[in-house]
Amino acid sequence: MNTSIAIAYLASAVCFILGLKMLSSARTARRGNLYAAFGMLLAIVVTLTDQRILDFTYIIIGLVIGGCVGVLLATRVQMTGMPQMVGLLNGFGGAASTLVAYAEYLRLSGDAAIDVFTASDVDTVVIATIALSVLIGTVTFFGSLVASAKLHGVIRSAPILYPMQKQTNAVLLFAALALSGVLVYDPSLWYIPLLVIGLATVLGVTSVIPVGGADMPVVISLMNSYSGLAGAMTGFVLNNNVLIISGTLVGTSGLILTNIMCKAMNRSLANVLFAGVGADYSPEEAATEQKTVIRYTPEDVSYVLEHAQSVIIVPGYGLAVAQAQHVLHELASILIKRGVNVRYAIHPVAGRMPGHMNVLLAEANVSYDLLLEMDRINDDFQNTDVAMIVGANDVVNPAARYKKNSPLYGMPILNADKARTVMVCKRSLNPGFAGEDNELFYLKNTMMVFGDAKATLMNLVGMMKKEAA
Ligand code: NAP
Repeated sequence: MNTSIAIAYLASAVCFILGLKMLSSARTARRGNLYAAFGMLLAIVVTLTDQRILDFTYIIIGLVIGGCVGVLLATRVQMTGMPQMVGLLNGFGGAASTLVAYAEYLRLSGDAAIDVFTASDVDTVVIATIALSVLIGTVTFFGSLVASAKLHGVIRSAPILYPMQKQTNAVLLFAALALSGVLVYDPSLWYIPLLVIGLATVLGVTSVIPVGGADMPVVISLMNSYSGLAGAMTGFVLNNNVLIISGTLVGTSGLILTNIMCKAMNRSLANVLFAGVGADYSPEEAATEQKTVIRYTPEDVSYVLEHAQSVIIVPGYGLAVAQAQHVLHELASILIKRGVNVRYAIHPVAGRMPGHMNVLLAEANVSYDLLLEMDRINDDFQNTDVAMIVGANDVVNPAARYKKNSPLYGMPILNADKARTVMVCKRSLNPGFAGEDNELFYLKNTMMVFGDAKATLMNLVGMMKKEAA
């Protein structure tokens, strides 16, 4: 590699690191994204000018096909479909690593004429990283497909368990690693990489299907980390520094995010991956209990809000579905102008992807100072007049505190039920993503306002404006 290419790669790696640092704060996140995108552009341009590229035909075909698919998806996918999309993109990262590593294996074996291809022909580290890249990349691809299908509702989100699941996964992993070792010992065994791909395919599926819907945030961030790790391995295969650095950054930041998500669920990673939390829960059984709720109108809510001095808004996935973030911001601004102390309580797993609510509310220009994380605001609910829950369900479900067979059991929730009045805005009594009925709806201090969040909030805003006029 000549010096100018090495320096350009270093510059793009610095952009990635600065970009990542800026992404850690909502204020600087946009700039961070630009830095990282510029770093990536630089890395791509430099790679394309690399003298080792002999023919641009396939690169151009790939760019055109990938570009078209990218534009199509970016313009067609709804905001609510983003989490599945992010899941799929992690998977594509893994698949790309597998394909590149396997192509490099074929190239090396071609160079060395397959029958005399031995460990002495190529660096052992290269063969080892090819095997690991193929293994991790394939697990990432198929694991992400399952996670995405669960988020999309194509596969049921509850844990899918079968006998000896942990043992099966352990055997699959051990067999794939052992075969990788055999490949390092004798790289001429051309069928070994294919066997590793086969085992990794099964492992990708069987390691994600036992994870329940409520724990999906952990899986998504773990797959993100795997895709980075696979990329870093491919960097070693190709001897490409920028790929090693960027893959390692994605891998480690994904691991940090996984840790944050595990803390948010109050579970260890092993518990999320192997325990099948909530597998014995039967929604049908729970649904047989007859309970009643009191239906309120937006007029009733407007009356309560008029007399409130403090309001905590709890946004959830339904806010994204209804695309009600702008009108919610409008309502909050009216209340703030009237002197009400309004804040937003952000649960780390609200929505369908890490940071979903922050992104959604930032889109509506909600001030970052008003967004408070669960740990900072949870004790304030008991001194608050109204907890206004808009399209959230699991993150305020008290079953998480005590119901041992619930998929939510153990997850810390927002203490919305402790507020003097709880207002819940959703379309029906349907459960949230985890499928658990929510007893919050039946509490004496809860006002259920049924309907689409956007329509209800628009109604409220209209009434409040009229009153003010
Ligand atoms: P949730 O439990 O999925 O509940 C969302 C609620 O929104 C639903 O009960 C739905 O009830 C309501 N809703 C849907 N469309 C609506 C509309 N147009 N207007 C008003 N309400 C609407 O959401 P959450 O409380 O945010 O909890 C997130 C869940 O997703 C957790 O279980 C979490 O573990 C899981 N998850 C999170 C991530 C992540 O990274 N954040 C990733 C994967 C999974 P109706 O149908 O009755 O309206």
